Amino acid sequence: MYDYVIIGSGFAGAVVARSVADLGKKVLIIEKRSHIGGNCYDENDENGILIHKYGPHIFHTNSEEVYTYLSKFTKWYDYSHEVEANLNGTFIPVPFNLNTLKIVYGEEKSERLREKLISEYGYGNRVPILKLRENTDEDIRNIADFVYENIFLKYTMKQWGQTPEQIDPAVTGRVPVLISEDNRYFQDKYQGMPLEGFTPLFEKMLDSENITIRLNSDAKDLLEFKEDGIYFENSKFSGNVIYTGAIDELFDCKYGRLPYRTLRFDMSYLDKEEYQPKAVINYTVSEDFTRITEFKKLTGQKSKGTIIMKEYPMEYTGGQDEIPYYAIANEENHRMYNRYTDIVKQYDNFYLLGRLAEYKYYNIDGIVEKALNLVKELEK
Ligand code: UDP
Repeated sequence: MYDYVIIGSGFAGAVVARSVADLGKKVLIIEKRSHIGGNCYDENDENGILIHKYGPHIFHTNSEEVYTYLSKFTKWYDYSHEVEANLNGTFIPVPFNLNTLKIVYGEEKSERLREKLISEYGYGNRVPILKLRENTDEDIRNIADFVYENIFLKYTMKQWGQTPEQIDPAVTGRVPVLISEDNRYFQDKYQGMPLEGFTPLFEKMLDSENITIRLNSDAKDLLEFKEDGIYFENSKFSGNVIYTGAIDELFDCKYGRLPYRTLRFDMSYLDKEEYQPKAVINYTVSEDFTRITEFKKLTGQKSKGTIIMKEYPMEYTGGQDEIPYYAIANEENHRMYNRYTDIVKQYDNFYLLGRLAEYKYYNIDGIVEKALNLVKELEK
C-alpha cells in the first residue's frame, strides 16, 4: 500500500516525504511525538509568544537549491542572526571579529592588531580558534588566548563537559574568529526565519494527498529486521524505509547506548518589553547555562511581554524525558555507531538519515540538502 515508510517528521523525514509524494509515491510517516517538525517544532505559549520548544533554530544556507525548496512552503522573516557574549556585564560580538577586537583592545592598540591579523590571514577569512592558537607571533597568540579563555573554554566545558582540545575540532570551527567587521553569526547568502514559524512550514510541506502521518507511534513496535527482509506491522515491506531516529534505540541499545549531550531548558515569561540586546546572548565566562534566547527577537514578533530561555547542557542518560540533541563525535563513539549500522547493511531498502540516524552534527540546510540528494538517488 505504501511506497515509503518514513520514521520521523523533522527536516530529514519531511523533505523526503514531500519530495517523493510529489513524484506520486505513497508515504506513511511514523512519528513518536504528538507533533510534527522534530526539534524545529515551535508553538505559541500561553501568552501568545512563539517559542521554539526544543531550543533556538535559525535557518541559513549558501545553497540556492535548499533555499528555493523550502521557500515553496514558507515566506521568510528577513533576520540575520547576531550573538553577543556577556563577559561579566560587557557585551562583545561573537564570533570574535574586528569589531570585538576594538572593544577588547581599544581604538589605538586594536588598529595595529587588526593590520597584523589581516596580513596574516587575509581580510574576510575565518580562522578556527585552535588554528589561531598555533600562531607563534606574540600579539596574535595573545588575541588567541583571550578568545580561547573568554569565549571558548568555559562555554565548551558547559556544553560538552570537555575542553575545546578534547572535542572534535569541527565543533569549535563552527564559530571561527572572523577577520572582518561582520557581526553576523552566519555569513551565508540566505538567512531568515520562517515567517509564520517552523510548524506551519512543516504543516504545508506535509500537506499532500500522498502523505499519511501517524503521530504517537513508536517505530520500534512496528518494524522487524528478519533474515529475509524488513517487516512492517508483521508483513514484509518491500518499499523504502527511511529512518531518522536514533539507531541504537531501534536495537535496544544492545551494543551500548550512543553518547549524546542533552539540554534542560528553563523558560520564563517576563512582563517587560525586552530583556537583552540580541536574540541570543552567550554566557562564556560565568553561569551554569550556556546561553539565553529571547524568542521575540528571533521571530520579530511584537508583544507586551517577552519569553527568555536558558539552556543547561548535560549528559544524556536515556531517561524518559531526555532528548538526545548533540552526537559526541569521537572514534570510540563512531565505532559503536558502526556496529549498529553493520546490522542494517544487508537491507538495501533501509536508509539512515539525519542528526540522530547518522550520529552527526547537521545544520538545517545540511540535512535538507542530504534529503534532497537521497531522493534523487532513490527516484532517478
Ligand atoms: N562555542 C563556544 N563559545 C561560544 C559559542 C560557541 O565555546 O560563545 C563553541 C562550543 O563548543 C559550541 C560550538 O562552539 O558547542 C558550536 O557552537 P554553535 O553556536 O554552532 O552551537 P549550536 O548552536 O549548534 O548549539
